[in-house]
Amino acid sequence: MNVDRSAAAFERAKTVTPGGVNSPVRAFLAVGGTPRFIKSARGAYLTDLDGNEYVDLVCSWGPMLLGHAHPEVLAAVAEAAQHGTSFGAPTQAEVDLAAAIIDRTPIDQVRLVNSGTEATLSAIRLARGFTGRDKIIKFAGCYHGHVDSLLASAGSGVATLGIPGTPGVTAGTTADTIVVAYNDRAAVRQAFATYGDQIACLITEGAPGNMGVIEPGAEDGIGFNRFLSDLCHEHGALFISDEVMTGFRVSKSGQYGLDGVGGDLMTFGKVMGGGFPAAAFGGRADIMAHLAPVGSVYQAGTLSGNPVATAAGLATLRLATADVYETVDKTSEQLRAEVHAALEQAGVPHVISHSGNLFSVFFVAPGVTAVPDYTAAQAQQAQAYTAFFHSMLEDGVYLPPSAFEGWFLSAAHDSTALDRIVAALPRAAQAAA
Ligand code: PLP
Repeated sequence: MNVDRSAAAFERAKTVTPGGVNSPVRAFLAVGGTPRFIKSARGAYLTDLDGNEYVDLVCSWGPMLLGHAHPEVLAAVAEAAQHGTSFGAPTQAEVDLAAAIIDRTPIDQVRLVNSGTEATLSAIRLARGFTGRDKIIKFAGCYHGHVDSLLASAGSGVATLGIPGTPGVTAGTTADTIVVAYNDRAAVRQAFATYGDQIACLITEGAPGNMGVIEPGAEDGIGFNRFLSDLCHEHGALFISDEVMTGFRVSKSGQYGLDGVGGDLMTFGKVMGGGFPAAAFGGRADIMAHLAPVGSVYQAGTLSGNPVATAAGLATLRLATADVYETVDKTSEQLRAEVHAALEQAGVPHVISHSGNLFSVFFVAPGVTAVPDYTAAQAQQAQAYTAFFHSMLEDGVYLPPSAFEGWFLSAAHDSTALDRIVAALPRAAQAAA
């Protein structure tokens, strides 16, 4: 495969931006090789600068649920842009987008922002302002954007780079962050027993997708999110469900649509922006009433509710009907079965875990049958993933360039796209063996 143009573009990029990328995982650091510079994308496919075409299993890390360049989303964007691209004043469309989000979730009110990072940092601030408490609980391996106080044990990007937190975040900033292991109920109970009346909130991903996908475990018929929500409420803390990745992807109503557990506050991004910078946080009306200009917790944004991004998000949610989720779920189930069969055939130990259509393939040590938390995720055989990744890439399948990420599908991944992936699997499985 000729990647000369991507290689040249990468060299040039490195002279103008650190590592040549605007978000670390794009640099292929974990897997090595030349990051592909993308020229265009349509449906289930990416085309790089050298003209190589790939079936895309990253989907921009989640947003492209309908596939790339969906004609109706493009039309909505073009139409919106005709009328001006930013006003710094309210529009009808942002009210419509807020209403569309509320319609699919248990929340009463929404505030639009520009990125998932803004959504989670605003939700944490609001939780602290509402409760008058300082401490927060998060899970090791959960990523909630590059918010200072949440960059303790923050999963994928940080794990890929092998750094424990990040320089630049002061000890003071994370002093109020309590990190516990995912799916470890005893550890969460212990944290509440020790700090209960100081804990403003617990934040969790709807289902973690940033240490690979980890399934929230059930005990005695009670799911992990329900357990967390109940425990928060026993202690007067807020439960924040971060659905930036899972929202409007793993079902029409995100993880909430799968387990029925909403957050007092919830955060959204990715799919709801339809490939543009739009995100949101929202929750119970009495909590949201603490936000400026009604209340005194400050939060703002020049481009928040941007009309072009809002149009893309609205069109995407309108088009993301039950049929779309049925299609993507079915494709995911088929692909998981094919990956399992190929790895089994090649004798490669693996665990495939999923939340709805979002899934991960962990290349584990022999005998490992479950990956319930970050420690288990970190124990995977990263070199096996690297070999698998490069074989797939050579055969025209673009997987996440890190073993700590989910695989994303879209409604545009039809049988032709699936066949191309399936055809590449035996060689990749052999490479990983
Ligand atoms: N929360 C979760 C669960 C995410 O997966 C991400 C990004 O991957 C974020 C927050 C941050 O979103 P953004 O990258 O839009 O800032």
